[in-house]
Amino acid sequence: MVIDSIPISMEKILQILKEKGIRVTHQRLAVYKVLCKENNHLTAEEIYEQIKPDNPVVSLATVYTILDIFKGKGLVNEIRIHFDKSCFETRVDQHHHFSCKQCGLIFDVDMKFCQGLKNKEVQGHAIESMQGYFYGTCRRCRKS
Ligand SMILES: [Zn+2]
Ligand SMILES: [Zn+2]
Repeated sequence: MVIDSIPISMEKILQILKEKGIRVTHQRLAVYKVLCKENNHLTAEEIYEQIKPDNPVVSLATVYTILDIFKGKGLVNEIRIHFDKSCFETRVDQHHHFSCKQCGLIFDVDMKFCQGLKNKEVQGHAIESMQGYFYGTCRRCRKS
């Protein structure tokens, strides 16, 4: 795993955590850093596996706790595209997801919202959040 190719600097991560009022610890930094890698939608287990080599004392329970804190502060988005386990990402604006049944990757999907969703109302119900999940074969797997 090439952790050095992250498109975000450590200073930037520190700044983001501080702006959200999150106390900075080595493990919290490590979790956020892994999630910042491009196109990453990771489960707590995957995050744990990636940070463990540099954080030998970290536990999976700690990773869950950190993700909870991040979620509470609006720093990460939790998606349930795989029903049995949550995935986390640092992109927190409204967007949808596509899951490839062949390679298992999850892609961000940007679509125009219909009028009802723009008004944040559907049949009299007020919408606070929404997530659309699509399943199929991704463009790369379709070619091969
Ligand atoms: Zn695929
Ligand atoms: Zn996403």
